[in-house]
Amino acid sequence: TETKRVAILGSTGSIGTQTLDVIRQHADKFTVEVLTAQNNSNLLIAQALEFQPNAVVIGNEANYQQVKEALLPHDIKVFAGQKAIAQIVEMDTIDVVLTALVGYSGLIPTVSAIKAGKQIALANKETMVVAGELITKLAKENAVNIYPVDSEHSAIFQCLVGEFHNPIEKIILTASGGPFRGKDRAFLETVTREQALKHPNWDMGAKITIDSASLMNKGLEVIEAKWLFGLKTEQIEVVVHPQSIVHSLVQFEDGSIKAQLGLPDMRIPIQFALSYPLRFKSDFERFDFLRYPQLTFEQPDLKTFRNLQLAFDALAKGGNAPCILNAANEIVVASFLKNEVGFLEMSDLIEITMEKATYIARPTLEDYVESDRETRIITDQLIKSKV
Ligand code: NDP
Ligand code: MG
Repeated sequence: TETKRVAILGSTGSIGTQTLDVIRQHADKFTVEVLTAQNNSNLLIAQALEFQPNAVVIGNEANYQQVKEALLPHDIKVFAGQKAIAQIVEMDTIDVVLTALVGYSGLIPTVSAIKAGKQIALANKETMVVAGELITKLAKENAVNIYPVDSEHSAIFQCLVGEFHNPIEKIILTASGGPFRGKDRAFLETVTREQALKHPNWDMGAKITIDSASLMNKGLEVIEAKWLFGLKTEQIEVVVHPQSIVHSLVQFEDGSIKAQLGLPDMRIPIQFALSYPLRFKSDFERFDFLRYPQLTFEQPDLKTFRNLQLAFDALAKGGNAPCILNAANEIVVASFLKNEVGFLEMSDLIEITMEKATYIARPTLEDYVESDRETRIITDQLIKSKV
């Protein structure tokens, strides 16, 4: 069988390194064609020396010289800058682009990969949140499949295998509830970045870890699911499942529900996004029911964790509203991580930004770019003026 040639955007992050772990286990099935990082040049160099890609891109141009000197003698091409990330994905020798960079920065490279006809393994959910309608349309036009990496969406995709012609009645996205599940607003008023960075079940990058604590992650996933699976908002339900074993569920029109289960290990959905329609043998730890005698489910608390409601609102509003939600969220999360805004203030700032930013009902790609830019300025000013 042929090997799949993979480009990993954001190879030095949590998803990126786990993707390389999957590829390491299946060196006969995958080869690494491209790796990219933003700042972490040391890890990028080490990865390139191990996996011998055709080319690497370092986003931060200040690190270009270091990476070039380390890799050129090994015949690995080195490029730098944001534009280079969007260009490198067009390379002839790439079969699939795994998007594991964080936030809005994934949008333009993903658009360019789809236009070049590359299959997408999508971890970077923010791209679907910002421009889901445009991305899915582009993918259709270019006969590109988008394979979900996000565990919930992978679960739904796995439930849909063999069912693609059967209508979905609804999907149920499970949420761990994060480190502050069951807490009230008085408690959340006082939480620190250190507390928010401790996720009970998953070890992830800082941005998504904060999003998980604030339930914005689930809000982003609702929007991601809408576009990936072509659903109406009313067909998407969220249920809190603290053990993170049932990764999500699909209910069909006969009333039957399918779920996908497993230990919380991102390498399973990463691998399936790359191996579909096959499953490759892995040595990941197996799930044991007897160690989890109780799997529990509860309603999310939308009054305390307002971000999830704000995401549903943005989805209902449509147009560029999810793009505004996402940009405002990226700014408030970065500020929370710098101790500049409090945990609960994040939702307030997002809500005010949603009212202030220019609404566009039918945005083009350029509109999304402009809306992202405008929103960041608005939220930044709100934060600066609050002191
Ligand atoms: P990390 O922060 O761990 O990694 C992000 C990666 O992207 C790093 O390689 C980083 O480079 C690079 N990067 C950061 N900013 C930029 C930028 N502006 N331009 C180009 N590259 C950049 O994130 P995660 O791996 O946790 O998450 C990646 C994506 O996957 C996110 O969209 C997240 O929501 C999604 N996801 C993650 C899950 C997880 O378990 N981690 C689960 C489900 C979805 P450098 O290291 O040099 O800074
Ligand atoms: Mg997820």
